[in-house]
Formats: sequence, structure tokens, C-alpha cells
Amino acid sequence: MAEDIEKAVARRRTFAIIAHPDAGKTTLTEKLLLFGGAIQLAGEVKAKKDKIQTRSDWMKIERERGISVVTSVMTFEYGDNVFNLLDTPGHEDFADDTYRTLSAVDSAVMVIDAAKGIEPRTLKLFEVCRLRDIPIITFVNKMDREARNTFEVLDEIEEKLALDTAPITWPIGQGKTFAGTYHLAQNAVRRGDDEKERTEVHGPDSNRAAGLLPDNDRPAFIEELELAREACRPFDLQAFREGHLTPVYFGSALRNFGVRDLIEALGEFGPAPRAQEADTRKVEATEEKMTSFVFKIQANMDPNHRDRIAFVRVCSGELKRGMKAKLVRTGKPMSLSAPQFFFARSRITADEAYAGDVVGIPNHGTLRIGDTLTEGEDILFRGVPNFAPEILRRVRLGDAMKAKKLKEALHQMAEEGVVQLFQPEDGSPAIVGVVGALQIDVLKERLSVEYTLPVDFEMARFSICRWIDADDAADLHRFIESHRGDIARDLDNDPVFLAQHEFSLNYEAERWKMIRFAAIKDYQ
Ligand code: GDP
Repeated sequence: MAEDIEKAVARRRTFAIIAHPDAGKTTLTEKLLLFGGAIQLAGEVKAKKDKIQTRSDWMKIERERGISVVTSVMTFEYGDNVFNLLDTPGHEDFADDTYRTLSAVDSAVMVIDAAKGIEPRTLKLFEVCRLRDIPIITFVNKMDREARNTFEVLDEIEEKLALDTAPITWPIGQGKTFAGTYHLAQNAVRRGDDEKERTEVHGPDSNRAAGLLPDNDRPAFIEELELAREACRPFDLQAFREGHLTPVYFGSALRNFGVRDLIEALGEFGPAPRAQEADTRKVEATEEKMTSFVFKIQANMDPNHRDRIAFVRVCSGELKRGMKAKLVRTGKPMSLSAPQFFFARSRITADEAYAGDVVGIPNHGTLRIGDTLTEGEDILFRGVPNFAPEILRRVRLGDAMKAKKLKEALHQMAEEGVVQLFQPEDGSPAIVGVVGALQIDVLKERLSVEYTLPVDFEMARFSICRWIDADDAADLHRFIESHRGDIARDLDNDPVFLAQHEFSLNYEAERWKMIRFAAIKDYQ
């Protein structure tokens, strides 16, 4: 039975977890899936990470380096809610993939190590969320270990991120004495995730609390809680939704504390799928007609079928199996015959999906990152960004006979977002650009395994790449004409200026004030 669209939208929560490596993202993911019933036994996600993910078996690189470079989506239910958790690669060399994934979520959980506080990658990912006004729920993890003073942790978030904090729970003890969480507004205690319900205690000094709080630490806890009530900000839903305030939760993903608090928080005040900005109008999640956009392409999910899956975020309406959609970039219709949902380890055919849902659409190269699919309307979603590559290389091919094959292969990789491809205007060999060095290794491995193209990469003369644009097309034309040797075209045929170093970029920018040099380009 198809759901009523409004109800379906209201119960969906689409989110990502942002964290510095080692803060506990994988462990938390595993527990969320466990409590959501998506997996039977905790340890599956971990096992996937430690051993080999079958679906990425093909990628030796991933195995060798012991990192997960694939982004995936996991769907689970808890209470009345349907959760879509979009996983992001932890390694910063795949930052562009992470940023694109964040364009498809409505909220984020920020995991912080209680002893380490805000670490560099947390900060970076937070900044991306802020750019998009993504509301953030904070989970202070590893409370079962030596942790910083709770007030200090809150202060650090406020100072380093310029973000207001409102603790919703307060940790009962820490390290060896960590015994659970105290809900400040409800005056209720939960001594671990085994307890489905919290126990109301009326106050930390009440008789009821006596048995629930550790006896010897109780006076100190009562004092701390009083201080917390005086010093901390109350929760403000609107400020949270606008991205100015983060509710803070404490726990230990490993020892099953605070995870239920967190899922409940996502369900209770995590935002339902939001309206999405398209080029000509804003699309409400509850509109009847289906709209969606591609934020990720993944090849080789199944080594036996060289399939390519486009991950699509539904923005409105109902995406139904078998429906015909319009691919707005080409204007052509496309039959969505086998959309899929993903779970921890399996995928199933998706009969219908609603705003906030992420479905995989198998295709043979029809879909690209940033593509919009609709039921006919000519609108384009903005906001799947393209970042100026920080590493530029020329591809050197051993066998000149295979030049055409190489060109095709590079084109495909570029469409998948593995690399960016630039064709110099002067006819010289293509230049590939990546944000992180590991992406070059992935490209090399895949060209060799999938296309039997052994290639090498040479340093390019350039180290900086900027998209160029001007209000007056004639200015842009003049700039391109007078810099032919330093101009290339991206996959969409948009011009980029390639500079040898920062200095030459600044020099040109100074001389050509009417030209915009952009480090970020939205797809389309
Ligand atoms: P990720 O890199 O962010 O995905 O982090 P992991 O989930 O892989 O965790 C990194 C390490 O911290 C692993 O050894 C985990 O077992 C450990 N860990 C994760 N959560 C906790 C926790 O709540 N308490 C303790 N003591 N260790 C944890």
C-alpha cells in the first residue's frame, strides 16, 4: 500500500554522521542499525570495515589501506520513524564525496570523542553543514573512558564552532563510574540502552533517584546538575532548525549508553525532509509530483555485474517502481524499472519511495552526479557542488593505440565523480584533477582492473584550477582568447583557468577584475 505522502514525509529523517576518524562513527552506526532492527548482531558494520566489504571486493586499494572509500546509505525504522543514514567516507582525500553526500541530508549527528573534543576534521565537516544550514545534534561519545569535564566540552563546542549548545541529557559520572544519562527537562534516568524507557525520578535529590544514581558520587552530581541548569542554555527548536544551536547528548556507543537518547532525539525534533531549492522555484517535500537528484554514483557494487548505481535523493512526490521519469539535463525519458533500497548488508527493490528517501538506480552511464529527475517539469536542483581539484595530473598512456578507450574510461570516471576531467583548449592531453591523492590511486587501480589500461600520471604544469565566468560574455571570451594555453574545459564544457601557482592566479585576478575565478562550481 502506498503511504499518504504527507504522513510518509513527516516520519522520515535523513541524516549523516560527521566525525573525526576514531571518534566512533562506525560503532555508533552499528548501534543505530542494531536498535533500528536493521541488523541482528552488532559487529556487522565493524566486520565489514575490518575485513572486506564484499561489494567493494574489487577494490584492492581499499583492502590494502584498511579504509572504506565507498559511501552508502542505510535505512532503518525506529518507533514511527523511517531513518535514512547516509554514510560518508572518513578519509579526507574523499572530501568531495562527503560534501556531495551532505547535500542530500536534512540533519547531521556530530560525534565527538569526550576526551579529545573538537578535532580538525570535525571542524571542517561542521563548516560544510553550516554553509547549508544543516541542523546538528551532538553526541559526546566515549563517556566510559577518561573524559573532559562536561562544562569544558560544551564550552569548546561553543567557542570553536561558534554554535550555541543545549545539553538535553547530562552524563551520570564518567570513565569507570559512568552509569547512564539524566534527562534534564524530564528529570528521568536511563542506565543504558537496554532500558527502553527512562525512569522518572522527579529530581536528582529525590528518594526515587537514590537507587538510580551512584551513592558515593551523588552529592557532587546533584551540585553539577544544579550548575548545569543555571549555566546552560535551554533547548530552542527554532534555533536548532536554523543551525544556530545544537542539542547535546552524552553516551558510549561501544558500551550502549545514550544511543537510544540520540535516536529518540532524531525522531522527536530532527527535521523531516526539507523543501529543496531548484533553479526556478523551491520544491516542497509534500508536493505530489516526483522530483529527485543524483548525489552519488557508485560503480561495481556487485563484481559479477558491472553495474553502475546512481544514488538519488527523492525531494518530493512518490518515486514508484516502473515509472517514467524525465532526465532534465537531456530532456529524455528514463524508465525507473528497478530502484533499490539499501540496508546494512542487503538491498531490495523499492516499490515506492518518498521525499528524504535515497534509492539506488542501476544504469549504464545515463545518469551523472547532479542530474535532476522529474515527472516532466524542467527544473534543476542546485547544490551538489564540484570542488576545484587540488592535485592536477596528466595521464600518460603506455599504448597509444588505446587512446580512444582511455578517453571513454576517463569520461566515465568523471561522470561518477571519481575524478574531474579537463580538456585543454590547445589540444594537449587531458588533465585529471582530484581533491585528495588517494583518488589518483583509485583511478589508477580502476583503469587497470576494469579497462586493462595501465597508465601513469605525470605532474602537470599547473597546480591550481578555477572555473571562470563573467557578467559580460565578451569579457569572458577575451580572457579565454588571450590565455589559450591555460584554458581547459570540464565535463560540461565550462571553461576553467589553470594556473601554475597562487601567485599567477592572483596576478590575473588583479588584472581581470571582471572575471570571476570560482573554486566551487555547482553541478549542472
Ligand atoms: P570511526 O573511525 O569514527 O568510525 O571510529 P570507530 O567506531 O571505528 O571507533 C574507533 C575506536 O574507538 C574503536 O576501537 C572503537 O572500539 C572505539 N570506541 C568507539 N566508541 C567507543 C566508546 O563509546 N567507548 C570506548 N571506550 N571506545 C569506543
